[in-house]
Amino acid sequence: MNERILISGASIAGLTLAHWLARHGFRPTVVERDPAPRAGGNGVDIRDDAVTVMERMGLMSRARELAADVHGMKFVDAADRAVARIDTRDAGSVEIMRGDLVALLREAAGDAEFLFGDSIRALEQDDDGVTVSFEHAPARRFDLVIGADGMHSNVRRLAFGPEDGFIRHKDHYFAFADADAALGEDRWVTMFNTPGKMAGIYRSGNHAQAKAYFVFRSARLDYDHRDVAEHKRLVGEAFADQPWAPARGLLDAALADPGFYFDALAQVHMDSWSNGRVALAGDAAWCASPASGAGAELALVGAYRLAGELAAAGGDHRVAFARYDAAHRPLVDRKQQIGPNVRLMVPKTDGGRCVRDTLVRLPLLKTAEAVERRLRARTARPLPNYHRAA
Ligand SMILES: Cc1cc2nc3c(=O)[nH]c(=O)nc-3n(C[C@H](O)[C@H](O)[C@H](O)COP(=O)(O)OP(=O)(O)OC[C@H]3O[C@@H](n4cnc5c(N)ncnc54)[C@H](O)[C@@H]3O)c2cc1C
Repeated sequence: MNERILISGASIAGLTLAHWLARHGFRPTVVERDPAPRAGGNGVDIRDDAVTVMERMGLMSRARELAADVHGMKFVDAADRAVARIDTRDAGSVEIMRGDLVALLREAAGDAEFLFGDSIRALEQDDDGVTVSFEHAPARRFDLVIGADGMHSNVRRLAFGPEDGFIRHKDHYFAFADADAALGEDRWVTMFNTPGKMAGIYRSGNHAQAKAYFVFRSARLDYDHRDVAEHKRLVGEAFADQPWAPARGLLDAALADPGFYFDALAQVHMDSWSNGRVALAGDAAWCASPASGAGAELALVGAYRLAGELAAAGGDHRVAFARYDAAHRPLVDRKQQIGPNVRLMVPKTDGGRCVRDTLVRLPLLKTAEAVERRLRARTARPLPNYHRAA
């Protein structure tokens, strides 16, 4: 029942889902707009249940070998002197470059069929399945369709409506791009602030290349989310006049990088992640924003649960989609509470920056994190080991 499953998006959620669906005996097909999985981005965290998912996929030891081994965040003044540091190392989690994680997941999803360089044009549901037309490939029938195609999900637009109804803007924009490693300190994320802006450099312990990182505060901007030249213009204008010497080199490298990644810092909120035979996973369903530090964790755990619930329900999508929503939503709700994370990285004023620098010198943040972790460990329920119903 419901064996042919189309997934839109070959990133963290889509590839994890493809792996688990194939393992549970379904026949997944993945359609990805780009000619190959997109490799860009900074380090992402694999923690808690996401570690269990990666272990069950047989990928965790390789993820540990590839770990970015970043020690923490360092805030600098205009003369490039460190004014405060936060040690973010956490024995329970592994930080890995997003591109490395995507490559591991792509390998693990080898049993799926892939359609690269294509996108869904239209979806028509009926009682028995979904007729899908593509931009390039001929139309096909599938039993179910899953949108794992990111914050600006095409599947969500086609099956649930325009994105304005679901996206909550968080007053900032961010960009990631390649940068010269010589501009930053090894194994630290170096950040420089002016009011409402942050220019930074992310240096993993295991990569020759570093990543430039920019965030700026802004009311909602009107631009095409697929127009990279326009994204570069916005970031170029926002960071043209930084008094921090490395900022110029970071900006030049970023603007020259064809893999430049830019988006609004925003969240996706939906009352339900399914509509008939169509469901969503990952940022398409619940984007918590990079400020949550939980995008990869939510995508890995959510995709694992969605495939598992489909298997446990013998492919019955009505039962499975409802159980998936109920099981995964509490974690999403918790991770969407991003609290002061953005203010910490991008203070609005010089006064706010001074307060931030003082606060991060105190051991408060570590203590609060440790208390939260202990509370969570006490209430956590083990991640189910799903089996296919006969
Ligand atoms: C290039 C890139 C770099 C990123 N860098 C970071 C980072 O440094 N830090 C961070 O916290 N988060 C980053 N993110 C977001 C992060 O990957 C997600 O928050 C999270 O991991 C959830 O992943 P996802 O699979 O749901 O969505 P995403 O990772 O956003 O992937 C969505 C996928 O869907 C594909 N897609 C989009 N539209 C279509 C369509 N019409 N048809 C078919 N496929 C489509 C995209 O090409 C992409 O492969 C990045 C995302 C991308 C795409």
